[in-house]
Amino acid sequence: MPWGLLEGLLGHACPGCGGRLDAPLLCTRCRAGLRALAAGDAVYLGLYGRVGGVARALKYRRRFGLAPLLAEPLALGVRERGWKLAGVTAVPTLLPRLLLRGYNPPELLAKEVARLLGLPYRRVLRRVRYAPSQPTRGRGRAYLPQDLFAPQAQVAGAWLLVDDVLTSGATFLRAKGALLEAGASRVYGAFLAVRDPGALGPYR
Ligand SMILES: [Zn+2]
Repeated sequence: MPWGLLEGLLGHACPGCGGRLDAPLLCTRCRAGLRALAAGDAVYLGLYGRVGGVARALKYRRRFGLAPLLAEPLALGVRERGWKLAGVTAVPTLLPRLLLRGYNPPELLAKEVARLLGLPYRRVLRRVRYAPSQPTRGRGRAYLPQDLFAPQAQVAGAWLLVDDVLTSGATFLRAKGALLEAGASRVYGAFLAVRDPGALGPYR
């Protein structure tokens, strides 16, 4: 197949490194470089500066095929941690946003992670409202409303809560709180990208 046609099918640049795509969706070098890092009760693929491109491609550019590729190292990382999990869920988005975008990136990822781990995926939480913009640090964090999420199901045992990008950690902590309220005995985290390593503090 001529490269021009192939490029048309594959997209122009690798979302991981900006280089030429030699495989669908993500170049072979970026694929080989995907590894889960661990910090306490969380696993993630890297800091935003390194893996933000793939997170954005999944979130804004409808590259659904990236979800299984990115879920694989995350699931491996979770398995290596030896956490005894009852199930996997995702940080939910607001319904209008879900309808607009047609999918929730953390959920795509969470479903793949659940499949790879042989665990059930469930929508345990619903998003009650959206937070204003999320400052990564500073006073703004304190203003994030408490009731962003509410349980919509009862669960038991330890659960894995998946999000695509961990920004300040405040949103994740709200979702974690709602998951504990739903009955989870412990909540672990899995993220694609972490913006502020300081946000991993609670997971160390
Ligand atoms: Zn690449």
